[in-house]
Amino acid sequence: MQGVEVKQGSAAMTAGVTVQRVEPEGGASSWSDLMGGAARLDVAVHDHGLCSLIDVMPRLVPTGATADQAIVQAARVSYGAGTKKVNEDRGLIRYLLRHRHTTPFEMVEFKFHVRMPIFVARQWIRHRTANVNEYSARYSIVPDRFYRPSRDDIRQQSKANRQGRDEPIDDATADAFLRYLDRAEALHEEYLKLTEQGLAREIARIGLPQSVYTEWYWKIDLHNLLRFLALRIDEHAQQEIRDFARAMLALIEPMCPWTIEAWRDYELESMRLTRLEIEAIRAGAVSLRTDNKREQAEWDAKRARLGLAN
Ligand SMILES: Cc1cc2nc3c(=O)[nH]c(=O)nc-3n(C[C@H](O)[C@H](O)[C@H](O)COP(=O)(O)OP(=O)(O)OC[C@H]3O[C@@H](n4cnc5c(N)ncnc54)[C@H](O)[C@@H]3O)c2cc1C
Repeated sequence: MQGVEVKQGSAAMTAGVTVQRVEPEGGASSWSDLMGGAARLDVAVHDHGLCSLIDVMPRLVPTGATADQAIVQAARVSYGAGTKKVNEDRGLIRYLLRHRHTTPFEMVEFKFHVRMPIFVARQWIRHRTANVNEYSARYSIVPDRFYRPSRDDIRQQSKANRQGRDEPIDDATADAFLRYLDRAEALHEEYLKLTEQGLAREIARIGLPQSVYTEWYWKIDLHNLLRFLALRIDEHAQQEIRDFARAMLALIEPMCPWTIEAWRDYELESMRLTRLEIEAIRAGAVSLRTDNKREQAEWDAKRARLGLAN
């Protein structure tokens, strides 16, 4: 690699500062766009939702490489030349993920444009480690788009999970729910009329239902995105946000395949065992040393996943 001086600072503050251009090994033609030259990669979610990948860092990678390379490159700053062989890269990523050496994963970033119902956005915004810029309903009119669950997604309150739904519900209750949505959606007409009569948008919007859509730009590094995905793909998360999380995973997987593979192996599809559970395994016991029913139920579910006989 050769350094070519391209610019000297001209303003007083940068005078004497020299910027050098460093050519890539193999020249510029050896780089590829991870997004294949696309302006954006879109996944439609539900009726009006959208999960769109706008940008990724690194976007240009050596041809044949992926963003995994940026993780390996950062890790080598700490581990030195000892891990330099290309065939060790996948193993290095797996090691980093297994041992929660997380900062190299922060070297990769993704920028999304997401359109989702307000009730999904409320859950999403709790993930504080992203940068967000949201559509302003103080500034602009809220469009008349509403989320409508499919018939299959209209279900009974779950008895096992206070935050969830599970069994199918009877048609009469489902129909009553849809009529209730009709009435809530009809409020949009009144909202429009009131704003046309001069009512401020910021106060007119407060009568709209949570099923209206909002949208935002959302930028996050890979480490924190994996945390978001683990929490929001999980079956305890609400179905609607899970659908967005799955769309997001489909968008990023080709960009960092070794990381996603390792994350599935060591986090998403792995299992954490508590001290009591390890004790039970050692003792060959079915019951945990606890009188907490929920903890025992969680242990039963883990035993089933592990294929341990009752
Ligand atoms: C299934 C499910 C059910 C939930 N139910 C509820 C509920 O009923 N009520 C409710 O209020 N919330 C609920 N939540 C939200 C949940 O409590 C978390 O707020 C949300 O998942 C974001 O997680 P987080 O804080 O790890 O993420 P992030 O905000 O992305 O933070 C990631 C990590 O960064 C660090 N961090 C971030 N910001 C700070 C900071 N300011 N100071 C120090 N450290 C920081 C922390 O280590 C944190 O764990 C639920 C979440 C899920 C997945």
